[in-house]
Amino acid sequence: MSSKSGKINQKPIVTPIYQTTIFEFPDTESVIQYQKGKKKGYIYTRYNNPTIEAVEIKLACLDRAESSLLFSSGMAAISGACFTLLSPGDEIVSSLPLYGGTGSFFDKFLKKIGVRTRYFPADDPGKLTRAITSKTRFIYLESPTNPNLRLINLEDVVKTARKHRIFTIIDSTFATPINQRPLEFGIDVVMHSATKYFGGHSDIMGGVLSGSVSFIKRARESRKFIGSCADPNQAFLLDRGLKTLAVRMERINRNALAVAEYLQTIPGIKTVIYPGLESHPQHHLALSQMDGFGGIVSLDIGSAKRAARFVDSLKVIKNAASLGGTESLVSIPVWTSHYGVNRKLLSDLGITPGLIRLSVGLEDENELKADIRRAIRRVSK
Ligand code: PLP
Repeated sequence: MSSKSGKINQKPIVTPIYQTTIFEFPDTESVIQYQKGKKKGYIYTRYNNPTIEAVEIKLACLDRAESSLLFSSGMAAISGACFTLLSPGDEIVSSLPLYGGTGSFFDKFLKKIGVRTRYFPADDPGKLTRAITSKTRFIYLESPTNPNLRLINLEDVVKTARKHRIFTIIDSTFATPINQRPLEFGIDVVMHSATKYFGGHSDIMGGVLSGSVSFIKRARESRKFIGSCADPNQAFLLDRGLKTLAVRMERINRNALAVAEYLQTIPGIKTVIYPGLESHPQHHLALSQMDGFGGIVSLDIGSAKRAARFVDSLKVIKNAASLGGTESLVSIPVWTSHYGVNRKLLSDLGITPGLIRLSVGLEDENELKADIRRAIRRVSK
C-alpha cells in the first residue's frame, strides 16, 4: 500500500536498534497522558525502549509466560526478583547446589540486608518442607544445577509451595525453554542468564524473568529504580541469538549426548554426569520433565592436578568460564563459577577439585571426541 506522499508503507524485517536514551513527546498533554498511564509510549530507555520491548515479547512466547522482562545480566535478573519480593526479616528457601554467584548473593548480600536463606538438597525435595518457616517469601530453585547437573522434581516442589502458599522462582539457564518450560509445571517465575544459550555467541550479557503480568509489573518497577535495564544494542544481539536458539539447542543436545557417551567409555574418568545418560541418578526425572538434556556435561577426573592437565591439553575446547556459546568451553568450577565458595560445602555437594564442566558447542562431534582423546592420553602419561 502507498501513502499519500507516494512512498510505499514498509516495515523492516529485522527489529531496528533504537539507540536512544530519550523519546520526544509532541506536547505536554502527551507527557501527562503517558505519566497517568492513559496513553502508552516511551519516555526514557531505563524505563523502556522499543528494541527491548520487542525482544521481551519473544522471550515471553519462548517461556509460555504472560510477560517477560529483560535485565542487564543474569545476576541483575536474580537480584531484581529478590528486590521485588523481599523485605528485611524475610527468608528464602533455596535448593543446593547453586551457581556460585547466586549463592554468594544470598549468603553475603541478602544476609547484610536482613534476609536469611535456608537450603535443601536439589535432589531431595522431601527436605524442603523442613526449611519452610512463616517468614519464607519464596522457594528458589536451579535445575539442572551448575555445575553438577542435579535435577529438581518440579511437580513435587510446586505441590509443597502451593500447600504453604509460597511463591516459586527457578533458574532454568542450563535447560533453556527448548528443553524445559517450568511455568507449565506451575512454577511462578522462570529466570535465565541470557548471557548463555539465549545470546548464544558469547558476546553479550543479559538476564530474563518471565511470569505473570502482575509479577512482571512489580519487577519492572524494581528494574526502573535499580537501573538494571539492558542496552538496546544488547537487546538487538539477543533478538538475533533467539532466532537460532531452537536449531542450536537441537545440535547442542545431540553433541552433548555423544560426548557424554564417549566420556563414559574412557578409563580414568571417575564419573560422567549428564541427565541424558541412563547412569544419571535422576535420568527418569529428566525424561519426564525435560524435552532435551542440554549442552553441559560434567566429569570428575579424580584430582585437581589431573583436572588441570586435562583442561590444559585440550585444543579445540577452550578454557573459559562461561557456557552456552557456539564454541565448546571447559572450566574447573572450583577455580571459576564456584571460586570463593566454602571448599568443604562444595566437596559435600560433589563439586570437587577434580570436577570439570564442559559446555558442548556446535562443532563436529568427532572433532570434540578427538580433542578429548588427545587430552586424556596426556593425563595418563
Ligand atoms: N545462573 C547460572 C546457572 C549461571 O551459570 C550464571 C552465570 O554463569 C548466572 C545465573 C548469572 O548470569 P550472568 O553471568 O549473566 O549474570
